[in-house]
Amino acid sequence: MSLFCKQCKSRRLPVILSESEKTMWLCENCKNFADIEDVIIREQTDEEIRENRRKLEEFENTTIAQGEKLVRRKGVN
Ligand SMILES: [Zn+2]
Repeated sequence: MSLFCKQCKSRRLPVILSESEKTMWLCENCKNFADIEDVIIREQTDEEIRENRRKLEEFENTTIAQGEKLVRRKGVN
């Protein structure tokens, strides 16, 4: 089992989609899931890609909002 995709050599991310499923490894470049044996299970669905993007945007928005708060607090002091 390699941490790197055998197709594009990018780093994979471990993903647990549900409790009943085993950990799968997602290559964000190829958009596919591989199992621990390095066998590609399936491609990432459009829905999953959208969900991922939404989570990422949410994360970025939260991080930026917190950054602004810190700056403002500094300004007050
Ligand atoms: Zn790949």
